[in-house]
Amino acid sequence: MWHQRAKHMWITDGDNNTSFFHQKASNRKQRSFIKGLTDGSGVWHEDDQNMERIILDYFFDIFHSNGPTDTTAIAEAIQPVVTESMNNFLCQPFQEVEVHKALKQMHPKKSPGPDGEWKASLIRQIFLPDDADTILSIPRSKYCARDRLIWAYTPRGTFTVNSAYKVASSLSSLSHPCQTSSDQSHKTFWRTIWSLNIPNKLKTFSWRASLNILPTKVNLCHRGVLDNPTCEACGLGDETSGHLFWDCTSTRETWETAGIPIDLRGMQYRQYIDFLWHLIFVQHVGMDLLEFVVTTTWCMWFSRNKTRLGAPRQSCRDIIHKARTMLEEVRLAHLRTPQHKEAADMRWTPPDFPKYKVNTDAAVFSNTKAVGIGVVVRDHEGAVIAALSKRLSLPLGPLEAEVKAMDEAVSFAKDIGLQDVIFETDSTIINNALTSTTIAPVSIENIVTSILHKLQDFRSSELQHVR
Ligand SMILES: [Zn+2]
Repeated sequence: MWHQRAKHMWITDGDNNTSFFHQKASNRKQRSFIKGLTDGSGVWHEDDQNMERIILDYFFDIFHSNGPTDTTAIAEAIQPVVTESMNNFLCQPFQEVEVHKALKQMHPKKSPGPDGEWKASLIRQIFLPDDADTILSIPRSKYCARDRLIWAYTPRGTFTVNSAYKVASSLSSLSHPCQTSSDQSHKTFWRTIWSLNIPNKLKTFSWRASLNILPTKVNLCHRGVLDNPTCEACGLGDETSGHLFWDCTSTRETWETAGIPIDLRGMQYRQYIDFLWHLIFVQHVGMDLLEFVVTTTWCMWFSRNKTRLGAPRQSCRDIIHKARTMLEEVRLAHLRTPQHKEAADMRWTPPDFPKYKVNTDAAVFSNTKAVGIGVVVRDHEGAVIAALSKRLSLPLGPLEAEVKAMDEAVSFAKDIGLQDVIFETDSTIINNALTSTTIAPVSIENIVTSILHKLQDFRSSELQHVR
């Protein structure tokens, strides 16, 4: 309670995403590079010597005096405000006690802004406009979050080799504009996965594994479900998707038995996607081999899950045999991938009595760096019983604005005293993050945690996704 009154959280989670800001700062450095200058007579120069001359001339003009010689008359006209004794006091060297006193005056548990919000004017005072926008575009959470390093190029802030590849190739395409863009590689990667001639559930599995959203032990630890991320098969490493499918002792044995050389010397396949990426873009292997690799990884995952439920561990040969049989069946059946039909349009439906349904939406006004948030509360007859709309002067992106709307909606529902509430959002990402289907993108992680905390205050709360 006292911590809350003293706005304790602002201090503990105020300095998040340090590497993200650093990244922004180094990008700015590249942008601030001076290519050329126009001199006093309007001529454009790009060579260093002339640019140097223009800069020197400019500052010489500004700071050069035209030569007023006698300034005593001016000085005499000014009435001194600081007296002789005041001046003596101010000129004294500072004491250690004074430093202590000054530091104590900055109360460590008081935030300078309103609870749960950035103090925008202060941030704009301290940081350059672009950096300030970046900081302000991260929705704040009132709850404690630990400082940690994040990788700015993946939504979840974790490092992956293929995102590094993307960054590296975008940097090199800046210097060689004729090179193909890395977005193209990404598109090719996903298109390749989806065009494999394997059952849909295997493609979906490979897609999920490539996005690193499989419930591996490391991911479950990250979400607080498990405490120990150690791989159960070997007990030697943490069970990441990279370890599970490429690096674990039993896994390597399987690949060796199958005759697939996974070269780990000098290469670390930290995630599932890394080796597939390598096969597609470095080794340029055919579809047959890719289909076999993906099917085998699915069989490994299937077997790993069975083992966790108590079944005996399958041998390498069992796994390879199963993968080959599955592929054979697919080829025999000449399976064509059936077209997925989207589910019929969802229409708004009123909640059952005595529940209330809260719908949220957000609009982004990027030109004015503001967002609009709307919340509507309806009862079991569909009647609007409360509504809220707000304009926030924050440069939030669409996802951040949506999650902010949800945060406001939850607070609003609590403020008006609702007990049994259904919250509806049209954002799949937010719905999945709040229902723990997937881990939230790093920019909204803190606020998602804060929403989940607040939801516990209701007698019952549900989350629904509406289109
Ligand atoms: Zn292992």
